[in-house]
Amino acid sequence: MGPAVAPEPCVFCEIVARRAPSHVVYEDEENLAFLDIFPFTRGHLLVVPKRHVDRLIDLRPPEFGSFLGAVVQACRHVERLSRDYNVGLNQGPLAGQIVFHLHFHIIPRYDDGNPFGQTPRTRLDDPTAAAIVHDLRGPAGR
Ligand code: AMP
Ligand code: ZN
Repeated sequence: MGPAVAPEPCVFCEIVARRAPSHVVYEDEENLAFLDIFPFTRGHLLVVPKRHVDRLIDLRPPEFGSFLGAVVQACRHVERLSRDYNVGLNQGPLAGQIVFHLHFHIIPRYDDGNPFGQTPRTRLDDPTAAAIVHDLRGPAGR
């Protein structure tokens, strides 16, 4: 696997290279998990591949297992604090991504409100679902 090459100075590449400080909880050859510096809750972790990629779909297939394995290992650590947690990826600015080096958040929950319960939602009807599935299965474009 090639070295991590970011298009511009990347804070998570700096953490991976140990040029920037972090609080590491889990590490293997290809991945790192460390505390989020602005945690939503106690024990909020970030899991990153050491190789710089911005987007999940830019991971190479041989990296899938390694990265998911690191997410599972990080979840095992979080389970020492709480059995309940959210695992999330903010992909793109509209989704709230601010650091453009792939990372999963693992956010332990302690009976402080489920964030998925806070946005009102409407039940999907069949014609709308069919149209959405059509778009989701259509030609890929980036
Ligand atoms: P996202 O909105 O998904 O891009 O989340 C980026 C996360 O990285 C935020 O939750 C930040 O608090 C966190 N973060 C930014 N800089 C650092 C850092 N130097 N060490 C640890 N976490 C960081
Ligand atoms: Zn990076």
